[in-house]
Amino acid sequence: MKDKNLSLPVMEEFYSLQGEGYHTGEAAYFVRVAGCDVGCHFCDVKESWDASVHNPTPINDILERILQTPTRNVVVTGGEPMLYDFTEFCAALRKNNIRAFLETSGSEKLTGEWDWICVSPKRNAPVRPEFFPKADELKMIICSKEDFQWAEENSINFSKPCLLYLQPEWSVSKKMMPLIVEYILHAPKWKISLQSHKYMNIP
Ligand code: SF4
Repeated sequence: MKDKNLSLPVMEEFYSLQGEGYHTGEAAYFVRVAGCDVGCHFCDVKESWDASVHNPTPINDILERILQTPTRNVVVTGGEPMLYDFTEFCAALRKNNIRAFLETSGSEKLTGEWDWICVSPKRNAPVRPEFFPKADELKMIICSKEDFQWAEENSINFSKPCLLYLQPEWSVSKKMMPLIVEYILHAPKWKISLQSHKYMNIP
């Protein structure tokens, strides 16, 4: 599947506010790339899994749409974007002074020059070691009490000054939120990340 290409199977593009992590609240253009075989039970974009139902979109067309917005932040998410080679896309963004932010599970080979890398590890898809020194942000999704221990085990791998976030999985967020708050009070290296776009009713 991986090859140097000038188009990507884009599921959707939209201009909104980043809802999660360090850049929460900033305007950004989102590019959701289709294709993912990680199979998380809590995935809220299962319609992104099958790349074959989404047409290849030329990266020049995406760039044109980005440049029509006032933001210079682009969030590439998925699906799993690293199923594809992002060298050309990132180079085009950089040439136009656009900051490129990546959201990934870290399970596929890293390509492209990114201004910000957010890795959100998934239990059934180990993070590749090349992400450990490069991630700016580690986002652990908390679905159950057992996930705190797993979050700790992941955090020791990341060597760059990497921001550490615990984010409640949306469907159990009411139940997990008090546990996360209590956990961070005892382990303040972590911060909480909320899917604030869902509270704001924006994409
Ligand atoms: Fe969904 Fe992301 Fe998990 Fe893929 S890695 S199944 S896109 S949550």
